[in-house]
Amino acid sequence: MERTLILCKPDCMRKNLAGEVVLRFQNAGLRLQAAKMIRLTDALLTEHYSHLTDKPFFPEIVNFMKSEPVLALILTGENAVMVVRDLLGPTDSRKAAKGTVRGDLGESNMLNIAHASDSVENAEIEVKRFFRSDEIPV
Ligand code: ADP
Repeated sequence: MERTLILCKPDCMRKNLAGEVVLRFQNAGLRLQAAKMIRLTDALLTEHYSHLTDKPFFPEIVNFMKSEPVLALILTGENAVMVVRDLLGPTDSRKAAKGTVRGDLGESNMLNIAHASDSVENAEIEVKRFFRSDEIPV
């Protein structure tokens, strides 16, 4: 069993698609372990996107991610990290296959509906980044 961290991004929230995104993950057999709405901060985003801070589009991503509260989720299941990444599709929604979350609902590189952890190791780091242990029911 694995767990993975999802953020339903501001474009997802603006389009009122959080329920649809969660349902797609649940229909694949994943279970919801924890969920909360949060407004992201510069500090949290600089840590979360530390691999992108030198990119020219970094300030744009930060502004976008702060533009609406996001829905943070922990999903659990067998191979949860890879199952979610496969359901999500590649970063650029325009290149994502139909049938994937980003291919069906996203618009671009930045407006791509959701974040999902990309490895088991990062999932553990990201769960701790966005959830305190007392926010995760046992
Ligand atoms: P992923 O979210 O698929 O793991 P990355 O970690 O590479 O992808 O990028 C993080 C986020 O930064 C992306 O989901 C997207 O919102 C944004 N992003 C990535 N590349 C670009 C780009 N070329 N232009 C604008 N935004 C981008």
